[in-house]
Amino acid sequence: MIPSAVVILLVFRVARQENELSERRATEARREALDQLRRELSARLQAIRLEEVNRLIGESGRRLPPDSPIVFVTPMMQDRMVLPWEDSRIPRAASSRFAEVHTEGELLEFQRNDAAGAAAAYQRAVTIARGPSETCAALLSLGRVYRKAARDPDADRTDRATLRQCAAVPDSNGIPHALYAADRLLTAGANDAEAQEYVVRTSSTRQWHGPNEAYMLQSLLRKISSPAAVDQLQAISSEIQDIEQITALAQETNNHLAKLKTAFRSAPGDLSWMGFGNEPWLITIVSPTSFAAPVVMAVSSRKVLPDGASLRLTESPRAVPLGDGFVDLQVEWPADRFTPTQGMPITLYGSVLFLVLGAVLLAAYLLLRDVHREAETAAMRSHFVASVSHELKTPLTSIRAHAETLLMGRAENTETTTEYLRTIVSESERLTRLVETVLDLSRIEQGRKTYRMQSTCLPEVVRAAAKTMEYPLSQLGFTLTISSDNTKPLLLADADALEQAILNLLGNAVKYSGSARRIELRVGSLASEAFIDVVDHGIGISREDQTRIFEKFHRVQSAQTEGIAGTGLGLALALHIVEAHNGRINVTSDVGRGSTFSVRIPLQGQA
Ligand code: ADP
Repeated sequence: MIPSAVVILLVFRVARQENELSERRATEARREALDQLRRELSARLQAIRLEEVNRLIGESGRRLPPDSPIVFVTPMMQDRMVLPWEDSRIPRAASSRFAEVHTEGELLEFQRNDAAGAAAAYQRAVTIARGPSETCAALLSLGRVYRKAARDPDADRTDRATLRQCAAVPDSNGIPHALYAADRLLTAGANDAEAQEYVVRTSSTRQWHGPNEAYMLQSLLRKISSPAAVDQLQAISSEIQDIEQITALAQETNNHLAKLKTAFRSAPGDLSWMGFGNEPWLITIVSPTSFAAPVVMAVSSRKVLPDGASLRLTESPRAVPLGDGFVDLQVEWPADRFTPTQGMPITLYGSVLFLVLGAVLLAAYLLLRDVHREAETAAMRSHFVASVSHELKTPLTSIRAHAETLLMGRAENTETTTEYLRTIVSESERLTRLVETVLDLSRIEQGRKTYRMQSTCLPEVVRAAAKTMEYPLSQLGFTLTISSDNTKPLLLADADALEQAILNLLGNAVKYSGSARRIELRVGSLASEAFIDVVDHGIGISREDQTRIFEKFHRVQSAQTEGIAGTGLGLALALHIVEAHNGRINVTSDVGRGSTFSVRIPLQGQA
């Protein structure tokens, strides 16, 4: 037990140390990964800044190709972030003459419901319009009122003219006039190829669309079912997401500027980056030259981060701060990236422990069983001594009493004399058998028991045994039936030893018959074996005891066997003798109904 306890303790200690070690390794790996990530990210961002920013400032307003890590670059004007789609082409205020005529048309169209009058006014507006803004506004109104007047061919013609001339002319909402015309043409006939082509082309320009234009393009693209439109719909939806995020960023610029400026101060010389949005974007402010206005640059963290890592703005149990130069940014790796590696699997320790415990328990069980057996054998031995004394005393007393009666001439007649003498002979035979059994077993234990094997006819041995038992059986009122299949099997056997085995079985049948008075003896051969069955109808043996009665000294302890003298050696000796003849011995028994002991011995031949 002590060594096993030591082993168990050791296993626990080793497992704990192993755990601590792998925990430390994981922490170390996490720190290294973070350092490396910071280095790589800084280097990439620095490179992006150097290469791209200067080039891109000139193209402000252009969207970058989808694989570019930069989302946008836009100047700061008086601490305000210029929106990338902001258009300097603010429509000029209309001339008063044009405004007058156009307003007159609107009055006729909307208040008087006079479509014809309104159309005439708008036509006049078209002729007096100066510049594309006025022309496009007048054309758009004219197209609308034609449709109201159900002059569809005129309306189509006018809208098509707007579509062609006004693609680059935005209204005060930043939406090109042509887009309204396209909307009308698509509403009039969804398959209008020119309008469809215009919508798809406009949405696919690499210029940032203003939010209103983007929403309108999205709704128009939904009406078109060509594959190109489906692709563009996806592109415009993602652009809208970017637009919304940029708008949100612009609204918060002042807050973030303060933060960024603090960060700039704390990490001079280095770029400072701030996270923004869901992805998140990495935002910085750069001054391309000491004269030029600073620019805001947004980089997609997804496109610059090494595989596996992801950035987030909020803290989480698995995220760690990215560190200096990165404001409010947390980095996170997949859950299994730094799981401590098991030096040796815990299952192995478990198995070792299990084996050790198993071995200890088995050893303890075997030890206890041996101790128990030893104690049982000791008890049986002492019981044996008492039994043998008793067994010896009974025949001796009987012999002495009968001999003394004869000596005193008290026998009444020759018949009584003969009977007394026979009893003396029978009892001394019983005594001899008992002594023989004890001596034989002692010889067996010392390995000195020898058998004189010679050709033997089994029925003769059985008959001799029956003869020996004839007198005691008749004295006790038993009938012994011998049945033979007349095969006369020949064995290579020690006839005396076999007879002794049969006598032990017959003796038991007598002792344990209870009130029954019938015993059968069957002899014969079956296949290549000779058999002897001793059948009684006595008290029987329980299944549990059947497995143990052939052990030395084992005697069944029960109410029925109490008071029956015996040594517990008879069956042990019978078994030894039968096995010495390469045979076997079986018992079948039912408690209360009797037992059959069957001996099987290989044949030498038939007599
Ligand atoms: P014993 O001297 O006690 O008879 P044995 O070795 O001959 O010793 O038998 C062992 C035990 O087996 C007996 O004590 C008895 O309980 C049981 N036994 C043997 N033969 C029979 C039988 N024919 N019927 C019932 N019990 C039997």
